[in-house]
Amino acid sequence: MKKLLFIFLGISAFWGKLYGQKTLIHCGRLVDVVEGKVLEKYTITIEGKEITNISEGYQKAGKSDDLINLKAYTVMPGLFDMHVHLEFESSPNTYMDRFKLNEADIAFRAAVYAKRTLLAGFTSVRDLGGSGVNTALRNAISLGLAEGPRIFSCGKSIATTGGHADPTNGRSQELMGNPGPQDGVINGPAEASKAVRQRYKNGADVIKITATGGVLSVAKDGSGPQFNMEELKAIVATSNDYGFLTAAHAHGAEGMRRAVAAGIKTIEHGTYMSEEVMKLMVEKNAFLVPTLTAGKAVEINAKKPGYYPPIVVPKALAIGPQIQSTFEKAYKFGVPICFGTDAGVFKHGTNGKEFGYMTQGGMPMMEVIYSATLTPAELLGVSETLGSISVGKTADIVATKGNPFEDVSLMEKIGFVMKEGKVYKME
Ligand SMILES: [Zn+2]
Repeated sequence: MKKLLFIFLGISAFWGKLYGQKTLIHCGRLVDVVEGKVLEKYTITIEGKEITNISEGYQKAGKSDDLINLKAYTVMPGLFDMHVHLEFESSPNTYMDRFKLNEADIAFRAAVYAKRTLLAGFTSVRDLGGSGVNTALRNAISLGLAEGPRIFSCGKSIATTGGHADPTNGRSQELMGNPGPQDGVINGPAEASKAVRQRYKNGADVIKITATGGVLSVAKDGSGPQFNMEELKAIVATSNDYGFLTAAHAHGAEGMRRAVAAGIKTIEHGTYMSEEVMKLMVEKNAFLVPTLTAGKAVEINAKKPGYYPPIVVPKALAIGPQIQSTFEKAYKFGVPICFGTDAGVFKHGTNGKEFGYMTQGGMPMMEVIYSATLTPAELLGVSETLGSISVGKTADIVATKGNPFEDVSLMEKIGFVMKEGKVYKME
């Protein structure tokens, strides 16, 4: 009997493949990011990994088709988070963990964080800094060995000596050594080019530099510039040779100004952005990645005794409120915006909070969704296949019950996740 059942199942699976078994999704609301409209009562048809039809009304499914009922949901393209760190999640132990964890320990944790991120509706992420485990995780996910979002990895980010992301900051001199381009520490244009080429060799997809100091590094000031113009130009020129999208972490205005002037495409955080920089960003079509959720999180954690080393606390307290008000100004000014949270500085899987902070900052919900779908797909050069629910594109589709245009917190409760035609979550 069992044998017969298997034969039957085998035949029907074969039949399904032969005759193009489809998945139909009945969408109560469907966010059309291309037109900037919310459509009502639509059906999406998926065959394999691809969206093959989108039509008005609730279409009937054939006998061998799968039907997914999302009539009570708002359906939208898979979300992108353009700034995450999948290798790491903040805790009071973070600063000690660096000395205790091996790459394998980091890898097991990163796999858990990646899955949480996917189940929160983020089907693609740009990982802006880790040890290289992020790139290995990307490969494992694309091979189907681990579950998580599609990763665009920078590998290890690039800093100058003592700068934010110099991996030996805060260590005793005995442990400091003399890190170089391989470790992501450069001085001078030749080393800058070498570091980019090393990342190409290591299989990175994007390049990230730390143009100014940082909040969480064990260093006094987070705002001063840490690259000179020649170094920045070498980073950008070499990145362009290899087709790398470039990102610069930046809090202070001068470091930001130099990075944008040199041709860096995305500015991460942008905390103390001046009007001069805003103007330059508009001119150069450079994007601000706001990371408001991280700003809030560091401010809250800094108030917990012992959470951060004392040198970090004043920086964290100042940057939280500033980052939100700068975002409001930059958006009003017309600076191009791309969605990114800095997840890892806070709990992975809560990335959806950023939607609330961005709408509070004056950006309309439809524009925020655009900045988390089509904008990043275009920046990463994958808008042919990703970034919208369109015929011919890959079936990365997420949904939340209810209407997030009326209640933005629903973006924190994504109940349906499909990536490349496969359902990962259905609540
Ligand atoms: Zn970051």
